[in-house]
Amino acid sequence: MATWFLRGARRGVVTTRYPARPEPSASSLPTPPSFDPRLLTRAVAADLEASCPSGALYRVDGYLVFDVGACSACGRCIAASGGAARPSGHFELATSERERLLKRIPIEGGSLLGGAP
Ligand code: SF4
Repeated sequence: MATWFLRGARRGVVTTRYPARPEPSASSLPTPPSFDPRLLTRAVAADLEASCPSGALYRVDGYLVFDVGACSACGRCIAASGGAARPSGHFELATSERERLLKRIPIEGGSLLGGAP
């Protein structure tokens, strides 16, 4: 990553091609959470919703909706989840369809519509 920055600063180029291989430093960066529906009780879902400063987590009709597009990967929900959330390890989440960024995780059972990122 530092190499890209230095090359760009030297040449005055502010964009770059998508990397041909994974960026090694990316593995140490925070990533959005993934959720284990087996541990997602109503109380945990409420705690998760309350913990998110970005409004990326909210409950609708028996589901916890995770708006990946609103997530800043701050990790507060992971700390508040009692093990129901963990870092996903995924950061390549771009899509041209907004709906694909909305994950629906069933609270206390139900069918899984949309998965973790
Ligand atoms: S990582 Fe932070 S912004 Fe993302 S869902 Fe959790 S609390 Fe919200």
